[in-house]
Amino acid sequence: MVTEQILNKLIASLSSLPGVGKKSALRIGFYLLRLEKKSFDDFISNLLLVRDSITFCESCGSITDKKICDICSSPDRLTNMICVVEKPEDVIFIERTGEIKGKYHVLDGVISPLDGIGPDKIRIRELLQRLKDNPVEELLIATNPTIQGDATASYISTILKDTNIKITRIAHGVTVGSTLEYADQYTLSKAIKSRNTI
Ligand SMILES: [Zn+2]
Repeated sequence: MVTEQILNKLIASLSSLPGVGKKSALRIGFYLLRLEKKSFDDFISNLLLVRDSITFCESCGSITDKKICDICSSPDRLTNMICVVEKPEDVIFIERTGEIKGKYHVLDGVISPLDGIGPDKIRIRELLQRLKDNPVEELLIATNPTIQGDATASYISTILKDTNIKITRIAHGVTVGSTLEYADQYTLSKAIKSRNTI
């Protein structure tokens, strides 16, 4: 294979990553080319480690290296409260605040009719099953304060309106249209503390 073809294959892989355009892919490609063998091997083995050992919790959908994650299986976590988030990353951001003593449920997306994502495309069915198996007192919906995040929160609160579950939504602090990822720990912590019943 000629040099350019080999490089192009790498660029194609790199530019398939989120937020990496063709230019950045080329820059990263050349960075990797110049990397010392040890650093390159470490990079590859870290990728393989992620591929081979990290999976998604069968209960909450967060990342884990077991069938059931440490949070779901912890006897120290409250079982009467579930915090609903969009992505597994959000569990990490919220855990850093230390505000959630209960468990989590990752939806793996939000309802977005324009993108063809209905309630059946995200993990709402799994959430309802969990609530049926282990009823909770409070369901804190911490989807991002975007149109889709709000619509998803409304949808969930509507289908659960005839239950005794208190449904809350993270409040002030997280900028409308923003994502949890960009909120600092203090802001996110305040947003969880001042949640509203919906
Ligand atoms: Zn879990």
